Amino acid sequence: MARRAFFCGNWKLNGSIAESLALATDVRNGVASVRDVDVAVAPSFTALHAVAKRLEDGPVMVAAQDCFWEEKGAFTGEVAPSQLADAGCKLVILGHSERRQLFGELDAAVNLKTRAALRAGLTPIICIGETLTERDAGETLGRIQAQLDGALADMTDAELEGIVIAYEPVWAIGTGRNATPAQAQEVHHFIRTRLATRAPALAPKLRILYGGSMKPDNVRALMAEEDVDGGLVGGASLSAESFIRLVKEGSAS
Ligand code: PEP
Repeated sequence: MARRAFFCGNWKLNGSIAESLALATDVRNGVASVRDVDVAVAPSFTALHAVAKRLEDGPVMVAAQDCFWEEKGAFTGEVAPSQLADAGCKLVILGHSERRQLFGELDAAVNLKTRAALRAGLTPIICIGETLTERDAGETLGRIQAQLDGALADMTDAELEGIVIAYEPVWAIGTGRNATPAQAQEVHHFIRTRLATRAPALAPKLRILYGGSMKPDNVRALMAEEDVDGGLVGGASLSAESFIRLVKEGSAS
């Protein structure tokens, strides 16, 4: 089953509005001629609307880095999925390991956020991944299963159809140490098999991205694996030159 490659740059807590606009514009221009690939960038909240306006009608989509699960009310500091859609977002990254580790986000919250995002018409990119301690203890697949099942609890097939999964081993994020293609494939295949127990017809169609020190020079080998469908890219997405090169290399695989 051919799945369309998808690369999303996660800019994390970086960039003024002007810097985000400049980076987004360079990315848009650089990937304009690349075929058969979906590309998104995820700026900080403050730059979302301006970047979405700049990228309007172009091939590059805008993602937020988080959202809340309620639509309105007394939730100081939170942002609703419909507000993100209103700002021009098409996707939202959920359950990133930094949110889990630094802000105590649990699978149940990821589940609520995922369903709320879908109700607002956003595509959730659900991040799951094991720590180095879990990998060393042989607990990788158990951890992945628990996070996946928790994030997708009680979701219907119609809901599942709208999701993207990102496998991001925590030990590979921002460390310069990517998972080997074989390590990534083992987990991606496990995720797809697990998805198939929930929704057999859908599982072959769902995209599973790899995240964790993906770079222009390792993307081809990762993308050559059967179940690796793209990337969630942190550090290498902060320079237009490296992100464009990564998208080109990754979509040529
Ligand atoms: C990420 O933050 O999702 C990520 C994968 O970061 P990096 O590419 O820098 O490892």
